[in-house]
Amino acid sequence: MYIVIDGLKVEIQKKKVKNINLAVLSPEGTVRISAPKRVSDEYISDFVRSKMGWIQKQRDKILKKAIIVNREYVTGEKIYLFGEEYTLQTLPATGKARVTINGNTAYLETKNGSTAADREKTVNEWYRQLLKEQIRKYLPKWEKITGLHPTEWQIKNMKTRWGTCNTVSGKIWLNLQLAKKPFVCLEYVILHELTHLRIRNHGKDFIEAMNHYMPEWQAIKEKMNEF
Ligand SMILES: [Zn+2]
Repeated sequence: MYIVIDGLKVEIQKKKVKNINLAVLSPEGTVRISAPKRVSDEYISDFVRSKMGWIQKQRDKILKKAIIVNREYVTGEKIYLFGEEYTLQTLPATGKARVTINGNTAYLETKNGSTAADREKTVNEWYRQLLKEQIRKYLPKWEKITGLHPTEWQIKNMKTRWGTCNTVSGKIWLNLQLAKKPFVCLEYVILHELTHLRIRNHGKDFIEAMNHYMPEWQAIKEKMNEF
């Protein structure tokens, strides 16, 4: 059987074991729990929540491996910036490695002998810079609308979630991958994480707040996850 805990699907096997065992499996990052038959689903949910940091780390590692294999950042590859598609063209760098856009082409200037990992790093630095500018624009907008303010925010390259919020410290993290998505996705994630500063879970109050501020949020969420 499966249960969903904070948006994470967890496979549960109840069998003759002494303790609760937790595993994150390759290649899909499936989370599997084996537990003694007498243990309740509530207990398992609490257990999974207490291990969420570790689970996300393991899933990031597994899913990252799967993604790195098929991206080379070479001429002809498609890359995305805020929902727009660009064709990549690599050029020898005269100075620092960088990305510039002209029309539908993204020019990736790289040093001689650069590896796919070097090129990815250059593209990610470019994404980070541009995403930062957009967060500086949209975060204050939604802080003003909701009256909710994070203590700080940071961009982080994550493979399994669009954003996270530490409800104790009040800090929010936004996924670097949002640079690939239309602006409305960034706005949705900002609103989602700001709302968590007031409502920790995704229960009725959370959904009500989201519906109030962004009636079309469910459609945005679905669209960004199928992409
Ligand atoms: Zn959430």
